[in-house]
Amino acid sequence: MKNPKKTIRTRIAPSPTGLMHIGTAYMALFNYAFAQKNSGQFIIRIEDTDRQRFVEGSEQVIFDGLKWLGIPHTEGPDVGGPHVPYRQSENLSMYKKFAEELIEKGYAYYCFCSVETLDEMRKQQQARKELPHYDRRCRVLSIEEAKKRVDAGEKYVIRMKVPDHEVIGWDDAIRGHVEINSDVVDDQVLMKSDGFPTYHLGVVVDDHRMEITHIMRGEEWISSTPKHILLYRYFGWELPVFAHMPLLRNPDRSKMSKRKNDVSVQSYREKGYLSEALRNYLCLMGWSHPQEKDVFNLNEFIAKMSLERIQTTGPIFDINKLNWMNGKYIREMLSLDEIIERLQPFLPADFPKDLLPKVLPLVRDRLVTLKDIGLLTEFFYRNIALKKEDLIGKKSTADKVKMYLDESIKKFEAVTEWKALPMETVLRDMCDAKGWNRGAFFMTLRVAVTGRTTTPPLFDTIEVLGKETTMKRLNQACALFT
Ligand code: GLU
Repeated sequence: MKNPKKTIRTRIAPSPTGLMHIGTAYMALFNYAFAQKNSGQFIIRIEDTDRQRFVEGSEQVIFDGLKWLGIPHTEGPDVGGPHVPYRQSENLSMYKKFAEELIEKGYAYYCFCSVETLDEMRKQQQARKELPHYDRRCRVLSIEEAKKRVDAGEKYVIRMKVPDHEVIGWDDAIRGHVEINSDVVDDQVLMKSDGFPTYHLGVVVDDHRMEITHIMRGEEWISSTPKHILLYRYFGWELPVFAHMPLLRNPDRSKMSKRKNDVSVQSYREKGYLSEALRNYLCLMGWSHPQEKDVFNLNEFIAKMSLERIQTTGPIFDINKLNWMNGKYIREMLSLDEIIERLQPFLPADFPKDLLPKVLPLVRDRLVTLKDIGLLTEFFYRNIALKKEDLIGKKSTADKVKMYLDESIKKFEAVTEWKALPMETVLRDMCDAKGWNRGAFFMTLRVAVTGRTTTPPLFDTIEVLGKETTMKRLNQACALFT
């Protein structure tokens, strides 16, 4: 660690470009946990300098997502803090000042090349099979001449000067020593012609200004890090620790993308995943518990996590494993009352208010997501539509089915105590006494009262359905055969 006496400060710096990507949640979780573990602080900064990609309202989506996931921040545009503003668009003149400082120091230059010139340059480079790069034609302009053109109102950007043939290296807290030759690093634009800084200038200025000690971000930023290291050097600022996290991947190992996976935190929420389960699952992305545990809470993660245990290979975000985790949380990790509360937004409008505590114990084990509650319990409160064929099934006959139903109706009518166990005993004894095939008999009964071939335990279901509904359904089924 480079600054042992300083408070550890980590951050996420999302760009408000629409939905909250699951990768942002992943970064937030690890940055937050690392800060917590070290009694530090976790900060949110909004990097909204790319006006073309800006989507109104997406900042709130990020805050809502983090709140839902239970990942709190100590500073940010919503809660303020000692380093305001936490939204880059509110500080444009400051970035300009820093860019001009670099020009004065000889580390940056004005560039007047138009979009057309740059396009042409790129085309020619591609024709020569070169990697596209800025050919530095404005780097040779004298500062006096450049300033004259700026004063005359010519459109410009500010680019950083990247040295030739220099190996730029850093000790990555996850990857070990990384080196990149400056010859593959472009003279990066720092200030755009619209007066906004680029990501590269903004991120360095703000990480320094906000006293960020550890930059934990996705591996897609590794190639940008040499630019950032140069900027820290040019400004004379102390380097933070860099830790490049692996990227989440689809099962085919491609980068987790909209096409192959659901990538928005909001959609997992809407589909009925529990925030605890999603968070727990994200903990296992590229990191493993020292005791190889799969299921643990956030406090345990904070206690056990370390950068050393983070792998460099991209973890696969596997929806089946998340489903398993979610089911596990629904079944075992939350109390019945908590699940009842979480289920509320997922109940269909016609779901009877007092039904949930009765049916939940019957279907809880079969819920993969909270949203499943609707379909799994539908037959308890909506009318069922039956056809003769459904009741007869493959192995029975119409005569037998009618007989099963007639006899069952008689038995159920006589029931005085509407409870699963005594009813089951009565019906099973009758079935055995008559020498009927148990499988066929109970299947007829199940289909008649629920409309389905798979249900929770039949007599528990019948108990919850109540006498009136059960009798009505049995009679309706019977009527199909007269
Ligand atoms: N604004 C960048 C993003 O959208 C932040 C990258 C970083 O963490 O440095 O992901």
